[in-house]
Amino acid sequence: MIGAIIGDIIGSRFEFGATPEEGFELFTPDCSYTDDTICTIAIADAVMNHRNYQEALHDWCRRYPDPMGGYGSRFYEWIQADQPHPMNSYGNGSAMRVSPIGWLFDDWEQVIDEAKKSAEVSHNHPEGIKGAQCVAETICWLRLMRFSKTDVERKVHKFFGYEIPSMRDILKIGAEGHFDGTCQETVPMALRCFMDANDFEETIRLAVLCDGDTDTKACIAGAIAEAYYQVPETMIEKAISYLPDDMLGILSQFYETIQSGCRQKK
Ligand SMILES: [Mg+2]
Repeated sequence: MIGAIIGDIIGSRFEFGATPEEGFELFTPDCSYTDDTICTIAIADAVMNHRNYQEALHDWCRRYPDPMGGYGSRFYEWIQADQPHPMNSYGNGSAMRVSPIGWLFDDWEQVIDEAKKSAEVSHNHPEGIKGAQCVAETICWLRLMRFSKTDVERKVHKFFGYEIPSMRDILKIGAEGHFDGTCQETVPMALRCFMDANDFEETIRLAVLCDGDTDTKACIAGAIAEAYYQVPETMIEKAISYLPDDMLGILSQFYETIQSGCRQKK
């Protein structure tokens, strides 16, 4: 979960701002948490504290109605609606927020099922659900079954049908100014960043250098990388300095839960 938050914060200043360049500074005063972190916290809260996904997302997004970069316009309407209906969306929002589910459930079928439930309150298009399931399941495979990167690539293709593009192709379309806003674009790209990197920091750097939806790509890549690599303590300390107390409360509860082995049955 902290891997997702670190990616979001580091990627934040490039989403609508400067073009990232090799060797960029990871944390600056221009960085902030964005909707990716807020929604990830909401999903963790829902699972750990037995809240409905829609209600928890509404609560957290309404607490933080104007984060850096804002919310997608349709999702903003969904947040504002008292009786929100799923939007048939395949935006990458369902995949960026799902990572706690890959940690909080130990059974791979339950991970698939919960990821679907977390997505379909808003992102009920089959691609929106699939994107969330793929990210949560990859985390589960890596941490429980210690899959290799080659296993991940093969299983992702087999179960979710994603072709993972080459880094060269991703960098090319990023440089052309393409903004990847959908699950079916961002999730395979984030997987490539994870597979081509040699450690956690490099995963985040690659995801940001791909440009486009930098915070969400780095959020998803960071979430996956956390299940495979050690996250540097200095990056954790830096990232939490950007977070308000109520988010830190959920983050602490999350690590206490997974470290105690008392995962949730929902
Ligand atoms: Mg964002």
